[in-house]
Amino acid sequence: MALNAVKQVNLKINGLDVCVPEGTTILEAARSVGIRIPTLCFLKNINEIGACRICVVEVEGARSLVASCVYPVSEGMVVRTNTEKVRHSRQLTLELIMSNHRMDCLTCARNSHCELLALANELRIDAVRYANDQLPPQIEDSALHLVRDNSKCILCRRCTATCHKVQQVAVISPNERGFKTHIACAYDRDLGEVDCVSCGQCVVACPTGALTVRDDTEKVWAALDDPAKHVVVAPAPAVRVTLGECLGMPIGTNVEGKLATALRRLGFDRVFDVDTAADFTIVEEGTEFLDRLQNGGVLPMITSCSPGWIRYCELHQPDLIPNLSSCKSPQQMFGSLVKTYYAEKEGIDPRDIVVVSVMPCTAKKYEVQREEMRLANGCLPVDISITTRELSSMIKRAGLLFDHLPDGEFDEALGVSTGAAAIFGATGGVMEAALRTVAVKLAGVGMQVDFHEVRGLEGIKEAGYCLPGRTVRVAVASGLSNAKKLLDRVKKGEAHYDFIEIMGCPGGCINGGGQPTQPADVRSFTDLVKLRSEALYSQDVRTQLRRSHENPVLQQIYQEYLGKPGGHRAHEILHTHYAPMRKYRT
Ligand code: SF4
Ligand code: SF4
Ligand code: SF4
Repeated sequence: MALNAVKQVNLKINGLDVCVPEGTTILEAARSVGIRIPTLCFLKNINEIGACRICVVEVEGARSLVASCVYPVSEGMVVRTNTEKVRHSRQLTLELIMSNHRMDCLTCARNSHCELLALANELRIDAVRYANDQLPPQIEDSALHLVRDNSKCILCRRCTATCHKVQQVAVISPNERGFKTHIACAYDRDLGEVDCVSCGQCVVACPTGALTVRDDTEKVWAALDDPAKHVVVAPAPAVRVTLGECLGMPIGTNVEGKLATALRRLGFDRVFDVDTAADFTIVEEGTEFLDRLQNGGVLPMITSCSPGWIRYCELHQPDLIPNLSSCKSPQQMFGSLVKTYYAEKEGIDPRDIVVVSVMPCTAKKYEVQREEMRLANGCLPVDISITTRELSSMIKRAGLLFDHLPDGEFDEALGVSTGAAAIFGATGGVMEAALRTVAVKLAGVGMQVDFHEVRGLEGIKEAGYCLPGRTVRVAVASGLSNAKKLLDRVKKGEAHYDFIEIMGCPGGCINGGGQPTQPADVRSFTDLVKLRSEALYSQDVRTQLRRSHENPVLQQIYQEYLGKPGGHRAHEILHTHYAPMRKYRT
């Protein structure tokens, strides 16, 4: 046997022979032979606490049923997952969970993808024996991005584990004990009062309607119905590879053409693309980086595209604010170009334009109202930011048969983009896009297009590139716990970089808080991030132009309107500033 080889364990599950590595849980061992055990509180690598007891199974010799999500296999073990005793226990447990749940499924925002409701169907709960129909709603809607209703909370703790472990923001926890236990911020402060970074990762972790993204679709319908308004829309890079998932298509389907058609049929006056603005971000950020590199500016420079990361930096790492790029995010650059360049070109008063962005991200709802973004003409760049999920609900409500839609195109004025913009949605994509442009600026033509070292799903990636004149050391982190780990090393002098990309959500925008919610069953056993990001990288390869500065629309706008990248006008319109923002420590 090879040294350090993992010992294999043999057991029987429902009469089937199973052989798995030591340390595997019964849940995973069963899965390896095609047996699915239902779960509720379980989220792989995030919340493995065996608390809800929906996943119980019988183990020969054990005195009681065991929670399969935390119970490791052992040699010779005999497991049964579908006995009368198991079925009865799961049913009773679920009935008791439901007894403390305000069931208004008919009007609940989560009813089409609620894990609790799906489980009630699966376990054939056909009578509500312990109903508590007196439970009033417990709405907490102080934050701009999400709404909590603890009357629908089942205390699974998936949200708190995500906030603590994945994001290390730790602003929500179980408060009090016993029957009084409820999920809230310390001292029951409102979420809008604490250091929440608006990432929405708790919402995608939640199995029920206890956490929902704030719905801004009525504002969009109102704008579309107002003949005095010129309403423009643009989706973020990551939305085209996730929207299809909300509408019944396989994970990782690129629906860019149908997306453009759907937006047009919803009635928007112009259908643009945030990918175009992503190309501007790269050209501005690349110019800023080269300036810092060559003229002794603050390094490492850290990207500023992710508003969840920006809010984390302002709240939790304010000493790094000078390291942030001053570039606005692609969403804000897009709105800024619409309300300046496009408004002037078309002769439309920017106050009559409503800019709607479709984003993978809940922190964008917070970003759109930031005063730092306000333009010299008095306008905020973006008026309404909706998530991928909100757009899918508008498509359904409008009766558009999405899979029947022909492929359409974006309007050219702000709808032409490169492969570099496409990969913005995946962790490492912004860095790779920036390197493509920076390398050419330093070397002239002929430099490489692909920078494979910054791709991939690891939480932290590092690379060094020999560019003409010097080696550029870069790092990429996604998910705030990884960002914190990386930045701690930088601050201690243990790691040295010139340029760092940080995305607030693990895996980047393709896994943002506004993206399709998948049940734990899918999230725990399918690599969503991989499937979605592969779709973006294959779009990049198919695109004729793969470097942002080659975008002809971008070149035209610099020539006609902005002047040179990093110049005075470009700075006035496309850049901003950030400041420390501490509220309460929890
Ligand atoms: S959270 Fe689920 S079970 Fe509860 S009301 Fe909403 S849809 Fe129904
Ligand atoms: S939005 Fe993010 S930071 Fe805020 S509570 Fe949820 S997980 Fe935590
Ligand atoms: S809010 Fe949602 S994720 Fe959090 S404990 Fe309640 S049901 Fe679970």
